[in-house]
Amino acid sequence: MLFQDITYINDSFQVVEHAFIGTEGDRITYIGTQMPEDAARYGRAYCGKDKLLLPGFYNAHSHIPMGLLRGYGENLSLHDWLHTRIFPFEARMRPEDIYWATLAGALEMLRYGIVSTTDMYSMGDAMTDAFLESGLKANLSLGTTCFDDRTYRDMPQYRDSLRLAEAFNGKHNGQITIELSLHAEYTTHEALVRTMAEVAKEHALRMHVHVSETAEEVAGCKERHNGLSPVAYLAACGLFDTPTTAAHCVHLSDADIALLKQYDVTVASCPKSNLKLASGVCPAGRLLQAGVRVALGTDSVASNNNLNMTEEMRFFALLHKGMTGDPTLITPAQALAAATLHGAQAQGRTDCGSVAVGNRADLVVMDTHKAHMQPVHNLLNNLVYSADGADIILTMVDGEVRYEDGCWPHMDAETIWQKTEAARTRILQELAARQ
Ligand SMILES: [Zn+2]
Repeated sequence: MLFQDITYINDSFQVVEHAFIGTEGDRITYIGTQMPEDAARYGRAYCGKDKLLLPGFYNAHSHIPMGLLRGYGENLSLHDWLHTRIFPFEARMRPEDIYWATLAGALEMLRYGIVSTTDMYSMGDAMTDAFLESGLKANLSLGTTCFDDRTYRDMPQYRDSLRLAEAFNGKHNGQITIELSLHAEYTTHEALVRTMAEVAKEHALRMHVHVSETAEEVAGCKERHNGLSPVAYLAACGLFDTPTTAAHCVHLSDADIALLKQYDVTVASCPKSNLKLASGVCPAGRLLQAGVRVALGTDSVASNNNLNMTEEMRFFALLHKGMTGDPTLITPAQALAAATLHGAQAQGRTDCGSVAVGNRADLVVMDTHKAHMQPVHNLLNNLVYSADGADIILTMVDGEVRYEDGCWPHMDAETIWQKTEAARTRILQELAARQ
């Protein structure tokens, strides 16, 4: 594909006008201000008039099958939300429900320009089938909770994760990377955490974990573990000895921030989910100042309630200004880097996350010929403060167009929505019959 005379955001997160960008196979192979001499070799020509090309979004924290619960539990405390809504519903989800819900989530992610997601859930076979079919890239892990005395090697997640890692890591052009995941400190015990850390190191697997989402979690952890915060405890257990994505990180001390930096942990900040569940606000300004990599996650649709990364970027930028009283905090370039490059780095995808020759062709096109995008003093400012996720008209993953102008050329959206609706109806009937 050859994007012609298009405005794009380069790998320094600066706006460049009148560019020609060519992709071949899964790569970006040409960027210049002139039409390449052998333009025909790129195949399809794409007119860049009134369009903005930007790197595809990397979602650093999701639970994609939970899209099935959109709008199901609202205005509840975290405890009531989990125990009266989320857990009973999830307990009735079957592998085929997970498969269709993963596909439905992929439709939404691709529509909003997400090319890859770091996802924590269960039933990995159904999920990997759906990811392969959708074309969406994923770093997938099987969330592990344990309320008895088993170690990680006794858990079904251990066997399944190793089996899936064998089948996927380094295969299928790297589309799926299997990671390990500890659900959280408060849903596991020390022997489990330590054995999971050992397994991760033995098999060179990455780690995904929820950390310090609520003040209650931090206080409870300190009581359970001799005054250690969740960050200090997990570091002491060796969990961060493997490349780790830590979701939320809302309640952090300066010592926690220093540890996250020391272990090169990526913080997956989830501003909308944290607002909705009233968990607090991640100290992104302090983290960035300390040199910690901050990426952006949507978390699940059950607590968001969409997968719109453009909206997530705006919340991220505005929230930290409002909370700290410092309007200089989080520039548009920092918000975009969090939504793209930092997420790719967190996934260990070193040839992804920015528009540069040699990188994977993970690209998003936005239509800027819109009332809310005029005039243009600085397109990056408009992208973060004015744009709407629905302005995205094309999403390319590894050189393949996966969404364009309301259509998913490789997916049957109507069938996927019928199947998820059938799953939702059946689960609600089962829940009603229980009462
Ligand atoms: Zn989560």
